[in-house]
Amino acid sequence: MGASVNGFRRLSTASVIRGGKGWSLLGARCSGCEAPIYPVLTVCPHCGGRDFVALPLPTIGTLYCHSVVHMGPRGVDTPYTVGYVDFSEGLRVFGRIEMEAGAVQTGQQLELRVKAANKRASQFIYFFAAPGEVPRQVSS
Ligand SMILES: [Zn+2]
Repeated sequence: MGASVNGFRRLSTASVIRGGKGWSLLGARCSGCEAPIYPVLTVCPHCGGRDFVALPLPTIGTLYCHSVVHMGPRGVDTPYTVGYVDFSEGLRVFGRIEMEAGAVQTGQQLELRVKAANKRASQFIYFFAAPGEVPRQVSS
């Protein structure tokens, strides 16, 4: 995959890209069996193929399941919510959900959000939030 794929510009992380429509997770589609893959691997887990084309994922997905974390890593405020979000490409992506814990409901739509992980904006992290809703400040 080159520096620019489908009009998307790759940033320093391999999995998050910014294009004309905003942020997206960058997956891949196997050239051998057409299977969508995220995160990107070097070998297709379905057919063993090694040729892929870039596949920016949809930004809206459906929450498959979630859980509230009460004891997190040092320096991370708790409680916070994590979950698996299903995308129309048939992929299930794990991530943090930036919503009030009591407001999160399995089956609801969630939207991908991206923010800089440091002041230089050399790395980015993603999380999920209700579509159109401005999430509370994320602690990093
Ligand atoms: Zn394959």
